[in-house]
Amino acid sequence: MNSDIGIDKEMPLRRRGRLYSEVSKILENRILAGELKIGDRLPSESAIAKEFGVSTRAVREAVQELEVKGLVHRRHGERTEVVRDDVDGYLDTLAITVRQRFSTDPDYLLQLMAVRRMIEAEVLELITDNETPVTPEVTAALDAMRAARDSKDFSGFVNADAQFHLALVHATGNQILQLIYDNLAGLINEVIHVSSRVPTKSLDEAYSEHASIYDLIIARDKAGAKALLRAQIDNSADYLRQAIEKSNQKKARKED
Ligand SMILES: [Zn+2]
Repeated sequence: MNSDIGIDKEMPLRRRGRLYSEVSKILENRILAGELKIGDRLPSESAIAKEFGVSTRAVREAVQELEVKGLVHRRHGERTEVVRDDVDGYLDTLAITVRQRFSTDPDYLLQLMAVRRMIEAEVLELITDNETPVTPEVTAALDAMRAARDSKDFSGFVNADAQFHLALVHATGNQILQLIYDNLAGLINEVIHVSSRVPTKSLDEAYSEHASIYDLIIARDKAGAKALLRAQIDNSADYLRQAIEKSNQKKARKED
């Protein structure tokens, strides 16, 4: 993944991601609640870091997130200023997060997709050998996807989709693999959320694809299940690229 070196390098990715998002959320709430007003300066990075018990790196990431949302403005050598106190014109936070990382590391997306491909294809290899290839957790996730499709509950569908992939990994019973995947889950969820925003695929098509993978697992068709999953992940990478491009275009139009 990212080869960034920071004092919080040892922390699992998911926890680190949460930390700066939490800091960003709290600061954002202070701005929206009027505790921090337009023209006010945020405390120094080290003061914020001390208040939340996080690294200054996490604070920098949190402030960067607020800046992308247009709430604050950073100037070199000065403390960050609050420039806006409403939520109008917010771009989608998930898209922002992924785009931010994507823009600083263009390989980020492809790297993440490559890892998903490796892990999830191998997971299918493993679970099709099990006495019962799918667990109730996998079945429940697929059922939830179908229910969400029927009620056109878009975000419910996306959550169930992420749950489906997570459940497959859990079905291996390999705890170390679970640990690795759980740490990636935050990133993977972002990718699933963002890529599913591009309406190239209907909920019905997306559901059918997952149901086919499920059926192939039950039929212990390793090659078939793996081929379908790989194609799905590769497509997701393409969708995500489109989502980022669309979002960038929207942003560019606003700035004109
Ligand atoms: Zn999926």
